[in-house]
Amino acid sequence: MAKNIRTKREREKAMVSEMITFYCRKRHGRKCGLCPECAALKAYARQRSDKCPFMETKTFCSNCKVHCYKPEMRERIRAVMRFSGPRMIFHHPVAAVRHVLETKKEKKRMERCNRSLKIREQKW
Ligand SMILES: [Zn+2]
Repeated sequence: MAKNIRTKREREKAMVSEMITFYCRKRHGRKCGLCPECAALKAYARQRSDKCPFMETKTFCSNCKVHCYKPEMRERIRAVMRFSGPRMIFHHPVAAVRHVLETKKEKKRMERCNRSLKIREQKW
């Protein structure tokens, strides 16, 4: 049981991270990584998931999610969910497959990104 909660927690954190990354890329035009604001939101959201006492019973998008957020962060995470939520359909098999592919692509993109950052660092 405890293991299930841990898995659920990890899954929730992964999903929130992804939604924020997606949101930041589309809305803030980030090519790699997150802007400072979204990075802060992500750290905050992950911390909330870590501390959530309702992990066992709640569903991912339940309202409970936003109640423990402080007002400012609540507004921000709401904006992210409103934006990313409808664009990320997790329950449809095709969407799920696409989601996996997207995640892989995203990973590759990040690697390329990190590499180019490293090259830049070396030049400096
Ligand atoms: Zn951003």
